[in-house]
Amino acid sequence: MDCLANLGAGVKAAVVGGGWAGLAAAVELARTGFQVTVFEAARQLGGRARSVRTQGQLLDNGQHILIGAYGETLRLMRTVGADPDRLLHRLPLELSFPTGQPHPFRLRLPRLPSPWHLAAGLLTARGASPGEKIAAMRFMRCLQGTAYRLGDDCTVAELLDRHGQHGALRRHLWEPLCLAALNTAPLQASAQIFANTLRDSLGSGRAATDLLLPAADLDRLFPAAAAQFIRARGGEIRLACRVDTIVAGPVVFGERFDCAVLAVGPQHAAGLLAGQPETAASARLLSGYAFEPIATVYLAYPPPLSLPWPMLGLDDRQTGQIGQWVFDRGTLCGTGGLMAFVLSAHGAWEDLDNAQLVLALDRQLAATLCRPLPPVLWQHAIRERRATFSCRPGLPRPAVETALPGWWLAGDYVCAEYPATLEAAVRSGVAAAGAISASLPVARRACAAGARSGPQSPRRA
Ligand SMILES: Cc1cc2nc3c(=O)[nH]c(=O)nc-3n(C[C@H](O)[C@H](O)[C@H](O)COP(=O)(O)OP(=O)(O)OC[C@H]3O[C@@H](n4cnc5c(N)ncnc54)[C@H](O)[C@@H]3O)c2cc1C
Repeated sequence: MDCLANLGAGVKAAVVGGGWAGLAAAVELARTGFQVTVFEAARQLGGRARSVRTQGQLLDNGQHILIGAYGETLRLMRTVGADPDRLLHRLPLELSFPTGQPHPFRLRLPRLPSPWHLAAGLLTARGASPGEKIAAMRFMRCLQGTAYRLGDDCTVAELLDRHGQHGALRRHLWEPLCLAALNTAPLQASAQIFANTLRDSLGSGRAATDLLLPAADLDRLFPAAAAQFIRARGGEIRLACRVDTIVAGPVVFGERFDCAVLAVGPQHAAGLLAGQPETAASARLLSGYAFEPIATVYLAYPPPLSLPWPMLGLDDRQTGQIGQWVFDRGTLCGTGGLMAFVLSAHGAWEDLDNAQLVLALDRQLAATLCRPLPPVLWQHAIRERRATFSCRPGLPRPAVETALPGWWLAGDYVCAEYPATLEAAVRSGVAAAGAISASLPVARRACAAGARSGPQSPRRA
């Protein structure tokens, strides 16, 4: 039992939005004794990282990748009893583009202590020249030398140009990492946010660079266990409950709470915040955000089909850039023959209808594997038009605190250090819950601190 379990006892907290940010805030508040009510507009939890039932299968609205650096996400998964060691495949970072070609690109970080894992990975990368490898190591050393602070923000493409990053490593390492992490093309993406992600992954311990690929549907990864955790602590989850206005106090659906977290996506937050004079400036800031799409296209092949590595870069030489990655859901989740293709950020793929997308991706996979493929058994495409905010240089982010009494903000867009990711969402939720706890009267916090050190403390007992 947590020693702070009674910190929020008797304090009523509302959380508007049941995505990963809202659930993270709700879990942290419930863990510290708050009486939590979650209001979610949809009929299910998870928001932009949710499960979808179709074709008799449980799929995800988008194939998600986590990495070892997602410390807060992994901590909260453990808190709610969703074991990351069981629900995620931990694999050393490997980028493979494509197999079967005369000069395939392959970079694999071996299980060596940091920074030797990165040096060895770069030096042994296949398909890159020695000059490119040395330039890449210089680039990382240079970023490290400035503690990954760039001064003035610029685009990732400008940053790479400035540091002489060209050729295979630019094409198969830096640019795919930028697209995967920021969901924004290198020509538009923020170099500072990219540098932050490099600091916490390639620039950190080896475990931080590991790929954590879901072995189960997204609901089982966190939302389902989070809901159970909240309910077990007396909390309530109200689905299909869209909040139309936010009122100081805070008041939600006419019910008075002691504190509230607005944890909806930035476009929805802009609409709700615009309704109050105190938060009109934040609403204006958010209404200036641009968004990037992601499509996940599932193609089911007869079960013997599998990939040589669960996550493969797609060959774009014959077919042009349509999809960036293909994931082998058979190896990852036990659904043999099912491939999930990921198409990130704005691109030519948006002009294709679903039938054309399926055809193009089937061809791209055949080119990648250098062999004809059996006919597709069934397919399903999910296009998320506003998958993430467009992570541009100098994009202003709002703080967790708002000027509206009783209200705090959470959501991937609030976490100023990171692009729109699960980790950003979870961190923002944890930060909102922390800010609420810190705002409690000093006497209550002192009492909780006393309980921590007192003889009746459960941890001491
Ligand atoms: C296809 C796709 C692929 C992605 N891939 C990755 C990846 O590989 N790795 C990674 O780390 N991240 C990835 N992301 C990003 C990640 O999913 C998001 O950053 C994260 O889920 C955002 O969580 P959130 O809680 O901030 O927002 P949301 O998930 O948008 O949650 C907001 C919730 O609020 C609800 N809501 C909205 N308005 C109201 C209202 N008025 N009243 C009540 N409820 C309301 C919504 O229904 C929603 O459930 C991907 C996203 C998508 C869409």
